[in-house]
Amino acid sequence: MQHPPTTAHSYLAKQLRLLAVMPLQRGIVHVATVAHDDWCDALHGRGYCNCDPDIRFTTTEGTNNN
Ligand SMILES: [Zn+2]
Repeated sequence: MQHPPTTAHSYLAKQLRLLAVMPLQRGIVHVATVAHDDWCDALHGRGYCNCDPDIRFTTTEGTNNN
C-alpha cells in the first residue's frame, strides 16, 4: 500500500502558515503538537486531516499557542 501524499492533511497547511510568521530560532529544538478535533478523519482512519487543529509549538525557551 502506497502512503498517501501528506500535503493533503489540513494541519500541515496551517502549520506552514504559522511557521511563516513565527520563524524558528537557530540552536533550539522546536516541537509541534497538533491537537485534532474529535471528529477529524485522520483520527479515525478515514483519510486526511480535515479539521482546524490547535497547534502548539514548544521550545526549550517557552511555548507559543496557536
Ligand atoms: Zn485534523
